[in-house]
Amino acid sequence: MIGRAFKHIALVTRHKWAVFIHCVKCGIPLRGLLHDLSKFSPTEFFESAKYYHGSRSPLAVCREKKGLSMAWLHHKGRNKHHLEYWVDEDCKVPPLVPYKYAVECVCDKLAATKTYRGKSYTPDMALAHFRRYGNKVHTNERTLAFIDKVFSDLCELGEKAILNKKYMKATYAAICLTESDTEKEGLS
Ligand SMILES: [Zn+2]
Repeated sequence: MIGRAFKHIALVTRHKWAVFIHCVKCGIPLRGLLHDLSKFSPTEFFESAKYYHGSRSPLAVCREKKGLSMAWLHHKGRNKHHLEYWVDEDCKVPPLVPYKYAVECVCDKLAATKTYRGKSYTPDMALAHFRRYGNKVHTNERTLAFIDKVFSDLCELGEKAILNKKYMKATYAAICLTESDTEKEGLS
């Protein structure tokens, strides 16, 4: 167990570092610093260490074995960069994920793809994974369209073109915001 706990800490640290670098490039360094801190809470930490895998999420492994992951239920309810945080089936239109969390979400998904795929990582993997699993979440359509667009542009234009504040603000404004929202968010 202790060996797996250390491996888990190493993996989380590597992932958090990658998310931080992405977030800095996108102009949201604070989100990068605060990213995924709940992973160090007992509910999340012990389950992840127990089901440590290395090239897959331990929560997915736990889900397969036990039928549920308490760590995930704990995590998604506390971390606004997860689309699942914003799911509310009782809303007529699911809430739009605010700018900084939508960008953090992209940084997270990209970093997770790199962390788990290691040397076999290629830029198209983030989009493939999102279209297969990520966009099945019952969240706001515009948020989903934003992430799809960013990952499509990643394939076509490369990482440098998308991981920056200017690109993120313009893309979010174009897809997610109406004119009055743009003024409210100060993105114009
Ligand atoms: Zn997270």
